[in-house]
Amino acid sequence: MQELEQLVAWAVSEFESTTEPAHLESIKGRFLGRNGSVTELLKGLGKLPGAERKAAGAAINAAKQSIESALQSRREALRAAALEAQLQREALDVTLPGRGAGVGGLHPVTRTLGRIEQLFRSVGFDVADGPEIETDFHNFTALNTPADHPARSMHDTFYIENAPGVLLRTHTSPIQVRYMQAHVARHARRSPMPPVRIIAPGRVYRVDSDATHSPMFHQVEGLWVDENVSFADLKGVLTDFLRRFFERQDLAVRFRPSFFPFTEPSAEVDMGCVFCSGKGCRVCGHTGWLEIAGSGMVHPNVLRQVGIDSERYLGFAFGMGPDRLTMLRYGINDLRLFYDGDLRFLGQFA
Ligand SMILES: [Zn+2]
Repeated sequence: MQELEQLVAWAVSEFESTTEPAHLESIKGRFLGRNGSVTELLKGLGKLPGAERKAAGAAINAAKQSIESALQSRREALRAAALEAQLQREALDVTLPGRGAGVGGLHPVTRTLGRIEQLFRSVGFDVADGPEIETDFHNFTALNTPADHPARSMHDTFYIENAPGVLLRTHTSPIQVRYMQAHVARHARRSPMPPVRIIAPGRVYRVDSDATHSPMFHQVEGLWVDENVSFADLKGVLTDFLRRFFERQDLAVRFRPSFFPFTEPSAEVDMGCVFCSGKGCRVCGHTGWLEIAGSGMVHPNVLRQVGIDSERYLGFAFGMGPDRLTMLRYGINDLRLFYDGDLRFLGQFA
């Protein structure tokens, strides 16, 4: 009798030991199968004397029923657990807030371009546009850039395959060339010619890529051609623009002599460091100044190339990088952040 109780206890503990329905059925075979322990016991009944056989048979059957009912309840428990797991897996929490359609925002550089256009429009400049795939003439020749100038080397310029003399513009100056050509054609019979007063913003391309250079970047160039424009006008326009752009009326601006093929004289434009107010810091290399633009009086050769009388008309031009302006205005230290497409970064400007 004790042996039967142990058998039942063993069966129950075996059933409890598995969570797999298929494994449970194979354990069942060990007790209730054709060669299972209980079946073997029942087979052994025939060898018992008649008097004992009845009581033993009843005891074995009772044990068998206990085992069967333990099996059945374990089956149900496993089925319930499986159902519960499935419900958990497929649960749909209708109370969760939706992801929603994100509200888009303008890219920080696009915001800067818009701001630059707005500031220059407010002092009478038009905004000109032009193709990003350019001819050698518009990108170099018309801009007094001789054939042996380093800017023409394969290292700097993306040339279009199987199209001699066609390239991705390396600056936005060809917009000015095209604008002046069209302006001259439009006003051929007017004297004096109405002034040219434009900024030319857009994407430009150079073979260059690191933390401060991207093969695609932005430029804004400005041009003012008229009978009486001077270097003083250039200084006034640029200084006023920088002070308004950075919202600092006391921003220091200085002009240093420099060289560009398309201007003469030429000047680099520096402004007081917006991070340390000129005291010197890491960003400005402890000089207190930040290089911000190139500028100069338009070279007479450039005016002649587009058919403007260089004896009668003068012009000034300048160029700067909206990417750099954006980095300085918002305190961003890696240019590549603009093009990684990381929404955590971009979302700060939306
Ligand atoms: Zn500084």
